[in-house]
Order: sequence, then C-alpha cells, then structure tokens
Amino acid sequence: MERVTDYQVVIIGSGPAGCTAALYLSRANITVVVLEGMQPGGQLTITTDVENYPGFPEGILGPKLMELMREQAERFGAKFVPLEPVESVNFRHHPFEVNVGGKVYVSPAVIVASGASAKQIGLPSEQALQGFGVSYCATCDGFFFKQKEIVVVGGGDSAMEEATFLTKFASKVTVVHRREELRASKIMQDRAKSNPKIDFIFNTTVDEVVGTKEGGVTSLKLRNLVTNETTELPAQGLFVAIGHTPNTQPYVGQLELDQAGYICLPHRNSTLTNIQGVFACGDVTDHIYRQAITAAGSGCQAALDCERWLTHERITERWGLEKGEEERVES
Ligand code: NAP
Repeated sequence: MERVTDYQVVIIGSGPAGCTAALYLSRANITVVVLEGMQPGGQLTITTDVENYPGFPEGILGPKLMELMREQAERFGAKFVPLEPVESVNFRHHPFEVNVGGKVYVSPAVIVASGASAKQIGLPSEQALQGFGVSYCATCDGFFFKQKEIVVVGGGDSAMEEATFLTKFASKVTVVHRREELRASKIMQDRAKSNPKIDFIFNTTVDEVVGTKEGGVTSLKLRNLVTNETTELPAQGLFVAIGHTPNTQPYVGQLELDQAGYICLPHRNSTLTNIQGVFACGDVTDHIYRQAITAAGSGCQAALDCERWLTHERITERWGLEKGEEERVES
C-alpha cells in the first residue's frame, strides 16, 4: 500500500473544525492534509441559509460558507483529499497511520474533526426536503419558521428542548413521538408540556413529508402505530430531533470514547486526546453546543495545541529529518 509521508499533520474531517484547524496550521507553515470524508464540508452542506455565523450580516448558504473556509485554508497550502471515508487508524505507534482510499497517511500528529451526524428518520421525502423545510437544528433554522406550524419528531431531551425553543418563532409546535412515554427528563417534559404552544401526538410515526423544494413542506403523513390509522397534519416545518451519532467508528479501541461514542478530552483546557499527538475538535467531541462557530473555535484550539505540541516535542525538526525513514516508537 502506498505510504504518504508528506504531511506533518493529518486532519480527519472537513467541516468548520477541520477547515479552521487546517487554516491555522498551514498559515503557521506546517504541512497539512485534510481527509474530507464522505460529506466534504460536513453538516453545513445539508443546510441552506446560515444567519448566525459572524461576519455575514446578510447570511450565507451553508455550502458556500464551507467552500470559502476550504479556499482560505488552501490559500496557505493545505491539501484536501476528497470523498474517501477513513477505514482505520493506528494510533498505537508513532508516527501515526491513517488508512484511507488504499493509501496510508503517516504523520507525527493527527487532528480528528470527523463530526457527528444527526440521525435521520430514513424517509426518501425527508432526504429530498433537507434544507427546504426539514431541519435537524432548531438553533440554526428556527428563525426561518416565524408564525409557521412545525412538527418536532422525537421524545428525548433534545426534542423537548428544540420544541420549547421553536415556540419563540412558530405559531404552533407538535411533538410527534413513536411511543406513549417520553424519554426526556421530567423537568424537560414538564417545561414542554406546560407550554401552551406545544401539542403532543404519541404512538405515531411520520410516513412521508409532503412538499416541494420550491414551496417547502406543506404537511406530514402520520401513522398511529397502535391503530395503524393514517392522518395528514398541515405543517411548514419538520425538525428531526432523534439524536446524533458521532463519527468515531474508526477510533473504537484506539481513542478513549465516552458512553455515547464521543471522543473524550481528558486534559483540562486542551484538545489533546488520551494519546499524545492526537487531538480532537468539533462535534466529534461535543454533544452540547453543536454549532458551526463552536466547531470552528475548537478547530482553532486544536491547531494551536497541535502546533505547540509539535514544537515542544521538537517533532517538526525530527520529522523533517526522518521523513521516509519512519522510525517506529512504541508509545
Ligand atoms: P435520545 O435521548 O437518544 O432520544 C432520542 C429520541 O428519539 C427518543 O425518544 C427515541 O425514541 C427517538 N427516536 C430514535 N430514533 C427514532 C426514529 N428512527 N424515529 C422516531 N423516533 C426516534 O437523544 P437526545 O434527545 O438527542 O439526547 C441525547 C443526550 O443528550 C441525552 O443524554 C440527553 O439527556 C442529553 N441532552 C440533554 C439536554 C439538556 O439537559 N438540556 C438537551 C438535549 C440533550 P424512544 O424513546 O422510543 O427510543
């Protein structure tokens, strides 16, 4: 297998965290490759208008924002490698190895910025209308639904939080949950249940999202899972809040992960993982904020941590000498 040893840092993931880390490192004269993954640009590429990223007073389209972030990093020499998922990594030896697309990237430092994916219901109509009335983030998109009727799917804390937040904008919010019981904590349930703008429909699933890209969502076809009865509920927005999956499959057994599969950052005020020389940033470490701006901020932190680590360990010099020789040191 071809071994690629041209880069001091391999960055895995090309969302706001990965692009920002690439910008900072390449601008500090560190050679960087960004392995873009199967969704180049990350989650923002499946949204439309982004109005809460500072610096764009008129808002900006999510895919355009990611194109600009990438261009900015490329301007300083970052190299982007598209459309291959990371198959496996070896962080047990130094330098580290990342296997992707039939090549092994070998580098003294790695930044994991592989993000998280919002879980989807799995309907073709849901996928077709993503960014056109179907959303996975109330903080990002709630503003676009002023005086509209919205459905939130899910029964956990996220669904309660999203539904409550959306009442700031929507005329009515209906929570559709597949069971009789909510999973959410009592306090979150109570808050949502006492909100006069929120209705609940239990034991029910969404069968189809009705609408067009031009006109947005107009209604949802629902099915009661107990009676099998079908109904159509008028709605102009669907917020899916059924959880997130961190993209950490290749790191199982290599990095310390929490119970939900997010990468642990065991050192206070640092993006260093449990392995010296491996850093993590963005949504792959964050199940709380999940915003483009927080991901970008942590990408900057990871780049600074990584650069300091490379300098402190004199890795930059040593790597320059050893490139191609790949001295393997048990960590
Ligand atoms: P979660 O607790 O896993 O809840 C997911 C919900 O979505 C469940 O009600 C589940 O139904 C439903 N669901 C899953 N797959 C579905 C599908 N395919 N179709 C329809 N419904 C589906 O996820 P979460 O709400 O995102 O919360 C994740 C963690 O973050 C939790 O620990 C939560 O407490 C925490 N959190 C805390 C706060 C807060 O305290 N402010 C806010 C948000 C999240 P079932 O119940 O039937 O399984």
